Amino acid sequence: MASYDLLLLPGDGIGPEVMAEVGRVIEWLDRNSGSTFETETDLVGGSAYDAHAVAITDAAMDKAQAADAVLFGAVGGPKWDSVPYEVRPEAGLLRLRKDMDLFANLRPAICYPALADASSLKRDVVEGLDILILRELTGGVYFGEPKEIVTLENGEKRAVDTQLYTTHEIERIARVAFELARTRNNKVTSMEKRNVMRSGVLWNQVVTAVHKAEYSDVELEHMLADAGGMQLVRWPKQFDVIVTDNLFGDMLSDVAAMLTGSLGMLPSASLGAPDEKTGKRKALYEPVHGSAPDIAGKRLANPIAMIASLGMALRYSCDMGEAADLVDGAIADVLAGGTRTADLAAKGQNAVSTTEMGEAIVRAM
Ligand code: ATP
Ligand code: MG
Repeated sequence: MASYDLLLLPGDGIGPEVMAEVGRVIEWLDRNSGSTFETETDLVGGSAYDAHAVAITDAAMDKAQAADAVLFGAVGGPKWDSVPYEVRPEAGLLRLRKDMDLFANLRPAICYPALADASSLKRDVVEGLDILILRELTGGVYFGEPKEIVTLENGEKRAVDTQLYTTHEIERIARVAFELARTRNNKVTSMEKRNVMRSGVLWNQVVTAVHKAEYSDVELEHMLADAGGMQLVRWPKQFDVIVTDNLFGDMLSDVAAMLTGSLGMLPSASLGAPDEKTGKRKALYEPVHGSAPDIAGKRLANPIAMIASLGMALRYSCDMGEAADLVDGAIADVLAGGTRTADLAAKGQNAVSTTEMGEAIVRAM
């Protein structure tokens, strides 16, 4: 019987509230799924700063490196606005991403039929939408050097950012895209701007070469990123997996998020390179939303994004695709039955608490 080690890092604000509901789902799976889970909980963000004066301890980092998957809640809040920059709450997440080399950021955009009217687009455009944006997370213009603002002799200033990608960086993200597509609807759309950027030319060439050599069974399409943004709003169901660079991925995944309704619904995954011996990837799963200090402690938080993040962990880190389908199906059923947290409830409709939503999802499972 398979057993998986999960590290839970609830963090701050609503993080612990939504993580408690993940705990409920894990307990159910532990009893009923045929696989078992060893969970450990540690501090990150402001709560780690309060206890240890760092945003994450070395001991917690070691646990994260060793776990099958890390589940991360959210960090930050007004309480820590004036702590030193190096130990601010967000530094905990950045260290996890950097030390685990989590270069592949997966953001699914799923539109549950029951919420299709909450989207900013027409119901028929988004109903049943299920696409995945894959953003390269550790390269590109976010990190390329030089990156500076220089004062010129005439007193004018000049700002430089460098969009930089190597063959290796593009190859590894392309492989993740094709692997994901094989588990979904077998189509990858690669987006760049090769018409104006040299990095776009290389991106296009490398993705094409990886496809030809290793993944010719998957359908591959290339799209300029600006046209891709337009198509994403015009008819998003044409896509399956969209793979793109750090900057375009940042923008396109926010656009895709708005297709689906509430921030409280959106999970994400960040994956590292496969281990040379075991083939297992380091992985961190987190809701797209933040710590929501405005509603923390009020039992209002929607736990679905966090629970759906666990679903992604089951799918991508635990070889438990059926259990992942069960979680996703339970979320869809609960929404179809009309259960809503406050962020999803229509005016005048009764809303349930964080805990009640978690319990409803477990019952549906
Ligand atoms: P961060 O910088 O950490 O991303 P943020 O200020 O951008 O934080 P959030 O903390 O995600 O954003 O909060 C944005 C708004 O969405 C807030 O009004 C918050 O209450 C609401 N919100 C966020 N997550 C949830 C959730 N899970 N359930 C209900 N409301 C949420
Ligand atoms: Mg934010």
